[in-house]
Amino acid sequence: MQDAIKEMIALHLGKVLINEKISNYTTYRVGGKVRAICFPKGEEELITLIKLLKERQIKYIVLGNGSNVLFSDLMYDGVIIKLDNFNKINIQDNIIEVGAGYPLIKLSRDAMRNSLVGLEFASGIPGTVGGAVFMNAGAYGEDMSKIVLSVRVVTGDGEIIELSNKDMEFSYRTTYLQSHLDYVCISAKLKLEYGNKEEIEEIMNSRKKTRIATQPLNYPSAGSVFRNPEGMYAGKIIEEMGMKGFTVGKAMVSEKHANFIINTGNAKASDIKRIIDTIKQKALNKYNIKLRVEQRLINWVGVSEKEEEDKEN
Ligand SMILES: Cc1cc2nc3c(=O)[nH]c(=O)nc-3n(C[C@H](O)[C@H](O)[C@H](O)COP(=O)(O)OP(=O)(O)OC[C@H]3O[C@@H](n4cnc5c(N)ncnc54)[C@H](O)[C@@H]3O)c2cc1C
Repeated sequence: MQDAIKEMIALHLGKVLINEKISNYTTYRVGGKVRAICFPKGEEELITLIKLLKERQIKYIVLGNGSNVLFSDLMYDGVIIKLDNFNKINIQDNIIEVGAGYPLIKLSRDAMRNSLVGLEFASGIPGTVGGAVFMNAGAYGEDMSKIVLSVRVVTGDGEIIELSNKDMEFSYRTTYLQSHLDYVCISAKLKLEYGNKEEIEEIMNSRKKTRIATQPLNYPSAGSVFRNPEGMYAGKIIEEMGMKGFTVGKAMVSEKHANFIINTGNAKASDIKRIIDTIKQKALNKYNIKLRVEQRLINWVGVSEKEEEDKEN
């Protein structure tokens, strides 16, 4: 691992940070340390990095804004790849090509300023384009699947390929990329519709007010914890189980929105995980409902990200 880090630095692939606290890169503000974080300068450097890590059998994960992940408190014995330098945007008529590191909220404002409809749902989602594509992020009955034309990714072999909307196999908070965890999304091509700038802005402003009124935005969190079961709201189920305010350590089920777990100050990742496990168990015992976690659980002993998915399906 140390040799690979030295090589990453020597190859000038981009900024490399060593033994960083993951909590500084996640909106929950929890997580252990990571051996190294690399910010590749561009596509060529990213490809070299992926090939190097694969050759050395070092695990890696791409992180956007860390707004939908729960890393454990353990050391992540691998490399986090951050695509902050993949932040170019090109708007041609109603087609937007945008880098994976571009912030989604900023993108939705850009679309509005260009009188383009289709990204209003994203104006309160604090992720990056890459994270939104990976998650099929959405709200108000809309999601990325409605606007993505195609996505460019670097595969685990270091090849660039383009995936069409169909290839992405979008469904509720699920995509093809979630079953190809070594793929890195580098950009997306979106198609929006023409609309009225003032109307778009009004919709965004009113939704912002609703979010402020209904979500605990003044505490670290990662948004909704559980996916909504078919025809139901996870938040309502948790509220009905009387779990608002349920606390473990410094983590708590929000009083404002039962599907949010908040960090009330120096929570451990394990505090949050215990709340998640308790909610799942209660929902199963009381209503025979299997709640599925929407957030990505990363670096938990005995639970690979993929295994967690399989177990929940
Ligand atoms: C206050 C709050 C409100 C939220 N509201 C919503 C909402 O309304 N709707 C909604 O859908 N979500 C919501 N979220 C969750 C989150 O913002 C979204 O899921 C967002 O799309 C995640 O983007 P990210 O860049 O932060 O991804 P991250 O959390 O960094 O990563 C999430 C997953 O995507 C993978 N990933 C990230 N970038 C890439 C890439 N370039 N290539 C390949 N894989 C990648 C990561 O490896 C990880 O598995 C909310 C979160 C918060 C904190």
